[in-house]
Amino acid sequence: MDEQQTFDVVVVGAGPAGLMAGLACAESGLRTAVAGPEADPRDSRSAALLDGSVNLLKRLGVWQQLAAASEPLTAIRLIDATGTLLRAPEVLFRASEIGLPAFGYNVPNAALTAALEATSHSNLTRLIDRKATVVDLAGNSAMLSTNSHGMLGARLVIAADGRDSPTRTAAGIKTSSWSYTQAAVVTAFSHSRPHYGISTELHRRAGPLTVVPGPGNTSNLVWVETKEDAERLMALDAAEFTRELSGHIGSLLGMLSDFAPRRTYPLSGRTASPLAAHRVVLVGEAAHVIPPIGAQGLNLGFRDAATIAEFAGDAQCAGEDIGGDALLERYGRARQSDVAFRVFAVDLLNRSLLSSIPGAHLARGFGLFALASNRALRARVMREGVMPSTSNPSLMRPFAATGEITAG
Ligand SMILES: Cc1cc2nc3c(=O)[nH]c(=O)nc-3n(C[C@H](O)[C@H](O)[C@H](O)COP(=O)(O)OP(=O)(O)OC[C@H]3O[C@@H](n4cnc5c(N)ncnc54)[C@H](O)[C@@H]3O)c2cc1C
Repeated sequence: MDEQQTFDVVVVGAGPAGLMAGLACAESGLRTAVAGPEADPRDSRSAALLDGSVNLLKRLGVWQQLAAASEPLTAIRLIDATGTLLRAPEVLFRASEIGLPAFGYNVPNAALTAALEATSHSNLTRLIDRKATVVDLAGNSAMLSTNSHGMLGARLVIAADGRDSPTRTAAGIKTSSWSYTQAAVVTAFSHSRPHYGISTELHRRAGPLTVVPGPGNTSNLVWVETKEDAERLMALDAAEFTRELSGHIGSLLGMLSDFAPRRTYPLSGRTASPLAAHRVVLVGEAAHVIPPIGAQGLNLGFRDAATIAEFAGDAQCAGEDIGGDALLERYGRARQSDVAFRVFAVDLLNRSLLSSIPGAHLARGFGLFALASNRALRARVMREGVMPSTSNPSLMRPFAATGEITAG
């Protein structure tokens, strides 16, 4: 029979949310194992990580390895390109308006997971394993089997095993799923004009087209289209694709060149309820899947990770069961409104673009007009976008706010 290794916490899945949850739990004083395969180094996506997420990376000593590959996002520009009769004004959100040098940074996914993997911690064990499976959740600790590391025991299991999470299923947690008629075409490219750290979002009838600044004169593209048009864009040669993109963004970035291979991601959504049960808490896409609009997905995942690390660390210090019902309920309550609000807001924005009802465009136009003209409203929206008032784990606050010494 296989020998059993015992931990306080086992994280199943080693994508960015799982690696972050493992490191944050280790930093909170919990003996933690992260079980999952190594990340796909060909992931050419990037993630716009907002201020709280960057603070978390800094506190955990990950940021030093990432800073050079990342680009600050100093402003976000929204442009109404719906072609409706009443065109909404352009809105420019500047981070300086809320006293920040940047809203966050655009970070390549491959560099992010490599930096998280490379950050060691004395409380953290990394188990490279393709399949960790929960076999028992009924007792005072959970039992998991793995392909290559025998049996694992833990009082708390963190399911970070992605949108189809087998660990979530084992805990009996149900999900609601929905899909959209759209897909995102993703690539990176160089350009002759500087981006000045401004992320530009064109609101089009088929969905947003977003150009996010990368290091130097490079940018990442997330172009949401109908599924048919996304397929057509994927089939274009480089010159045709360049021409079509230029047709939308005009001379904003000058001449476009050096496109990375394109990939496409169908848009879908999924939420789990509850967010924790039977010694299992859900983080990242195991808990919520939202379309890549407004840079929310992984920021939510990092807030999940920081929240459970803080709660479980506190519970351990207080001598409580870190996988007990009281802690799971507290986690669910703490994360529910943040997740629900982001899922709702992204869905609403996307559907307001797709809608054929003139009232929907009018309402969106009024919203943009209010944001363009009202500085106080703009500041409130920006603050809430960077770090929601309902969810502010201490690991995500700036150092100056707590005065703590950290691992970073
Ligand atoms: C085009 C696009 C652009 C995006 N841009 C942004 C952005 O700008 N900002 C932002 O915040 N978010 C963004 N996102 C969202 C972000 O990419 C996701 O939230 C994030 O990748 C999800 O990470 P995860 O760790 O939860 O899941 P995953 O990356 O799916 O990781 C799950 C891991 O679990 C492993 N696994 C599964 N089953 C098991 C098992 N039984 N045992 C062990 N391991 C297992 C899998 O192999 C995988 O490695 C974007 C998404 C897309 C599609």
